[in-house]
Amino acid sequence: MALIVQKYGGTSVGNPERIKNVARRVAQAREQGHQLVIVVSAMSGETNRLIALAKEVQPQPDPRELDVVVSTGEQVTIGLLCMALKEQGVPARSYTGAQVRILTDSSFTRARILKIDEERMRKDLDDGCVVVVAGFQGVDEAGNITTLGRGGSDTTGVALAAALRADECQIYTDVDGVYTTDPRVVPEARKLDYITFEEMLEMASLGSKVLQIRSVEFAGKYKVRLRVLSSFQDGGEGTLITFEDDIKMEQPIISGIAFNRDEAKLTVLGVPDRPGIAYQILGPVAEANIDVDMIIQNVGVDGTTDFSFTVNRNDMERAVAILENVKKHVGAREIRGDRSMAKVSVVGVGMRSHVGIASKMFRTLAEEGINIQMISTSEIKISVAIDEKYLELAVRVLHKAFELDQVGS
Ligand code: ADP
Ligand code: ASP
Ligand code: MG
Repeated sequence: MALIVQKYGGTSVGNPERIKNVARRVAQAREQGHQLVIVVSAMSGETNRLIALAKEVQPQPDPRELDVVVSTGEQVTIGLLCMALKEQGVPARSYTGAQVRILTDSSFTRARILKIDEERMRKDLDDGCVVVVAGFQGVDEAGNITTLGRGGSDTTGVALAAALRADECQIYTDVDGVYTTDPRVVPEARKLDYITFEEMLEMASLGSKVLQIRSVEFAGKYKVRLRVLSSFQDGGEGTLITFEDDIKMEQPIISGIAFNRDEAKLTVLGVPDRPGIAYQILGPVAEANIDVDMIIQNVGVDGTTDFSFTVNRNDMERAVAILENVKKHVGAREIRGDRSMAKVSVVGVGMRSHVGIASKMFRTLAEEGINIQMISTSEIKISVAIDEKYLELAVRVLHKAFELDQVGS
């Protein structure tokens, strides 16, 4: 008998039929003798609908109240799934994040999990009951409802698996595993049987939304066995996220391509080229809690230079306002903002032992006439910022150039 945490995403619980389908799968796993904790997302589209509703009433919704509103999506699905399970004769009990007591900090809309009370779940499991928990939500020390950021049900799943020391955490979604890139953009993308934890962490942080980055961080920290599978197919093994020591096979040089459309570039033109300037520009941006991603400072000419960096597109307006202020202090010439940026990254642990990956990436993009505006690298990834209108082309040609469509690549 194993203790398994299964998480079902929005599409997998998108209508009553699909909820019944999930109940059937849960019932089957239970018949095999497993103890089960099920985490569900809101029905697909529901979280977006609730956010839009909130914005109609208050254009910049109060974060505490926004969490009260959006957390209701998951409350609906836990109740419905328990009903479907009971219809199939399976004893089940639903809990919101607060009822379990998934304790988080108080950063509304992007809270972090601090502690999980497992007693109640353990008792239900010992009684032979399936435990159904609302994803994406928790409660802070003061009793306020919090949410964990978009895609946060993945993190609920992995965090529960860590707290319960589950044998496996299975993330059921609308694709049958982690692919070499988003199969909706490149139909030739291949499903990976394994991906290393480090690679998955990079893929998630660079825009592959198949797993929320925090869920991968949790899995790494608590060594949770994590698998991504389809809720629509029977029998597949999905993709296992492995820790490097588990791997016996040879590593491909590049495992996948990640991309992110939500980037914006800010440029400060004609700043005096002197020590401390980067700090004077980026200090106030950091103080406003805006994450800066790629940074470039050009070579100075005539004592001045240009300084560019990227931020999330949602933060662009705020960043421009801050820079207009900075401009006066440091004596810059002009501030420019460009909302139409995208980032494409190639990821692979094999890069450590191979040279020439960057030049192959740059040559491939050059052959298509795609201009690279910024570059950043780490030991296992190379990212470039490009104009958003070339994003899909860039992903497709890179996928082909690195032969990710070939089995055994
Ligand atoms: P869920 O609602 O189940 O949480 P998501 O929409 O959050 O599902 O994540 C699944 C989606 O992630 C897929 O439908 C796919 O379009 C997208 N995706 C992006 N990159 C990848 C990748 N490398 N492998 C698989 N899916 C990916
Ligand atoms: N329902 C939330 C969202 O749409 C959480 C999730 O699906 O993981 O972001
Ligand atoms: Mg998701």
